Amino acid sequence: MKFAITSKGDSVSNTLMLKMRTYLQDFELEYDEDQPDIVISVGGDGTLLYAFHRYQKRLDKTAFVGVHTGHLGFYADWVPEEVEKLVIAIAKTPYQVVEYPILEVIIRHLNGGKEARYLALNESTVKAVEGSLVMDLEIKGQRFETFRGDGLCISTPSGSTAYNKALGGAILHPSIEAIQVAEMASINNRVFRTIGSPLVLPGHHTCMLKPINHVDFQITVDHLTLLHKDVKSIQYRVAQEKIKFARFRPFPFWKRVRDSFVGDK
Ligand code: NAD
Repeated sequence: MKFAITSKGDSVSNTLMLKMRTYLQDFELEYDEDQPDIVISVGGDGTLLYAFHRYQKRLDKTAFVGVHTGHLGFYADWVPEEVEKLVIAIAKTPYQVVEYPILEVIIRHLNGGKEARYLALNESTVKAVEGSLVMDLEIKGQRFETFRGDGLCISTPSGSTAYNKALGGAILHPSIEAIQVAEMASINNRVFRTIGSPLVLPGHHTCMLKPINHVDFQITVDHLTLLHKDVKSIQYRVAQEKIKFARFRPFPFWKRVRDSFVGDK
C-alpha cells in the first residue's frame, strides 16, 4: 500500500510527519506523494482541507485520516500520542472506509468560455466585491427569492459544523446526502424579503445563484478565496464524488460534535 503525509508545516507537525513516515516505511509501506492509497494529514482541519484539494483528482482511490497537533478537529481526530497505534492499524490493512458527501460548484461566465468546476469539503460562500450581495436564488429551476445581504454559504453535511454553524445553520449528519444554504445577514424589511431560515436541499436538487446587477463576486471554496468576474450563474449541488475517510476505531459524529462544542458541561 502507498501512503503520503501532509503537514501543517509547523515544527511539531513536521516532526510527527517524519516519525510516522519512518514507522510506516519500517512496515514496508511505500511513500508515494503522487498516487497514495491513504493520505495522513498532520495538523488540523485546515491541513485536511488542503490535503483534500491536493488529492481531489483521485478521491475514488484515496482515503484520508487526520491527526491533530492542536485542538481536536472534525476531520483531524487522532492525537499525536496515538500515532504508533494508528501506524499499526494502517499497516494491517484492510481498514474500514466511510464516505461523506461533498459539494460541487460550477461557475459560468457571461462571455461563454469554459465553466469553472470546484469541489468543496466544507462549504462555498458568495459575497459581493463591493456593497451588498444581490442575487436571485433558484431551486430546481424555480425562482425562490432575491437575496440581499452580506452573502450566502452553501455547505456539506460534514462542513455544517464549520462556517455554517456560525451562521445559525443546522448540523447535519454526514450520512445525509444534502447541501445546506445559510444566509449571512440578509436585509429584511417591507421592501426586501428572504426566507430567513437555512434550507436543506436533497441530492437531486440544484441551487442556482444568478446576479441581478453586479457580476463580480468573491467566492470561497473551503479555505480558498477566488475572484470571479462577469459571472452568469453559480450552481451548487451534491457532487457525484465523495470523500473517503479511513476508520480505525469508532468515533461517532455526534460524539465529535459533543466533544467539540459542548464538552463535559
Ligand atoms: P481557520 O484557520 O480560520 O480555521 C477555522 C476553524 O474552523 C478551525 O478551528 C477548524 O478546526 C474549524 N473547522 C474547519 N472545518 C471544520 C468542520 N468541518 N467542522 C468544525 N470545525 C471546522 O481556517 P482554515 O483552517 O483554513 O479552515 C477554513 C474553514 O474555516 C472554512 O472552510 C470555514 O468553514 C471556516 N470558517 C469559519 C468561519 C466562522 O466560523 N465564522 C469564518 C470563515 C471560515
